[in-house]
Amino acid sequence: MPTILIFATNNSNKVKEIKSLVAEDLIVLSLADAGINIDIPEPFDTLEANATEKSTVIHQLTKQNCFSEDTGLEVSALNGAPGVKSARYAGENRDFQSNIDLLLLNLQNEHDRTAQFRTVISLIWEQQEYLFEGICTGKISQEQKGKEGFGYDPIFIPDGATISFAEMTMEEKNQYSHRKKAMHKLIDFLKLKLP
Ligand code: IMP
Repeated sequence: MPTILIFATNNSNKVKEIKSLVAEDLIVLSLADAGINIDIPEPFDTLEANATEKSTVIHQLTKQNCFSEDTGLEVSALNGAPGVKSARYAGENRDFQSNIDLLLLNLQNEHDRTAQFRTVISLIWEQQEYLFEGICTGKISQEQKGKEGFGYDPIFIPDGATISFAEMTMEEKNQYSHRKKAMHKLIDFLKLKLP
């Protein structure tokens, strides 16, 4: 019997990435797949607290095993900003291009371009919560390149690569990705729990 997990997100890019990572014995249902139409707030000032909030809301609603994730881009020269505010860095309308423009502006005269994506997954499994973290280190490029992916992908070059996430296929991005690292920890955890 496959294991079913609801993924508490409305972000179709994240759903695509996560679905590409799991084997057939784990079925990931997005909120849309599960027929749930809800916009879950992210009101807290840590990735952990927001991830917990999202998985808890969906668990209370469905009583099913579920998980959520929250991701932030942490830039060294900006003391970890935009971090937990990554989605709304340039304002409440969550516009990817405005966020990129503002970040490049704020780094205009900055030599230290190091940054990392950090993902926190909150899994609620058999009524208990477990947290998993995935980090991808890299740097912010001088200009944006590429059309794939989403968010800050056009300006993020992971360590070990010479091109941005947005110039990579999803499979290439997955070789480096923060989200993949956190998701693999979740998958390894479930392997121990399942018969
Ligand atoms: P969220 O709050 O976890 O939905 O993500 C915050 C923001 O971080 C998103 O709106 C994106 O701008 C950005 N983000 C999250 N994951 C990625 C990624 O894998 N690549 C690029 N940007 C990302």
